[in-house]
Amino acid sequence: MLQKTKNRILDLKKNCWIGTGGIASNTFFPEDEKDLHNYLKIKNNKKFFILGNGSNILFRDKGYSGKIIKLGKGFRGINFTQDKKHLICGAATLKKELSNFALKNNISGFEFLSCIPGNLAGGVKMNAGCFDNSFSDIVSKVVGYKFNGIKKTISANKIKFRYRRTNIPNDFVITNIIFKIKKSNYNVIKKKMDLYVKKKSISQPEKIKTSGSTFRNPSDKVKAWTLIKGAGCDKLNFEGAKFSGKHSNFLDNSSSASSKNIEKLISLTIEKVKNKYDVKLNLEIQVVGDK
Ligand SMILES: Cc1cc2nc3c(=O)[nH]c(=O)nc-3n(C[C@H](O)[C@H](O)[C@H](O)COP(=O)(O)OP(=O)(O)OC[C@H]3O[C@@H](n4cnc5c(N)ncnc54)[C@H](O)[C@@H]3O)c2cc1C
Repeated sequence: MLQKTKNRILDLKKNCWIGTGGIASNTFFPEDEKDLHNYLKIKNNKKFFILGNGSNILFRDKGYSGKIIKLGKGFRGINFTQDKKHLICGAATLKKELSNFALKNNISGFEFLSCIPGNLAGGVKMNAGCFDNSFSDIVSKVVGYKFNGIKKTISANKIKFRYRRTNIPNDFVITNIIFKIKKSNYNVIKKKMDLYVKKKSISQPEKIKTSGSTFRNPSDKVKAWTLIKGAGCDKLNFEGAKFSGKHSNFLDNSSSASSKNIEKLISLTIEKVKNKYDVKLNLEIQVVGDK
């Protein structure tokens, strides 16, 4: 049956970690793969924004008049493949769920997922990572649908994984991800997971409204936070729009600032860093919505 799940209005503030944005009037929540496939076929190559868990998104105040696709519970789950050599996971499975599953099953390589928010599809698309690990190390294949409704499997060796980005096309809805498996020992995996979580809590703010690293690090040696601090931008405040005192590359939206003011802060930071260091900062977060 077509479109079991109707299009709905989405309050963007409640659907991104930083808590900004207006309303999206046209969001489709496919229940399962069949529902998504039917919808895409009918929509015949229309443009969509695909929303994961919203941990890397800054939605604009005026909302989003385009269409959004947000995968629901039917896209969650973790299973071994028949040959037991890989894991096949639903795109909307949370990263933490997978790292916990891997721990229980003595599988190593997934420890870093314990301290990155969001779902697996958002992670693959962004090539998310920390502590010298990233999705590029563990992905074997990505399965999904083009906006024209055609199903496609992309092998990892065909994906260009770069620092916090990939060339996975924007008109491709990831539905499943297949991961490589490496067996290890429970205690070794647990120790690594605990270490990563501890390291993160020491260096990064927790329990604040943020979207993680605002800018990409210009290089391995030059960190965005040092440039932001060095240019005095950690002290800027546009009606509540500011960077975190604990980590100057993390926005802190505890004052519920408008996106407009956050964008002002971002622009001025880029300008000040450029003037002081002659380095152009590039956004890691994605700014989405109507201007
Ligand atoms: C407190 C905090 C800490 C963070 N720490 C880290 C960190 O250590 N390392 C790191 O890399 N990032 C970090 N981030 C950023 C963010 O968590 C990651 O980029 C995460 O992978 C995004 O996943 P998401 O599900 O929230 O995706 P979203 O933010 O919703 O989307 C991210 C991108 O993925 C695309 N996307 C989502 N779902 C699909 C799909 N099904 N098919 C195709 N495309 C899709 C979106 O269109 C968008 O382009 C942090 C963020 C926060 C708030």
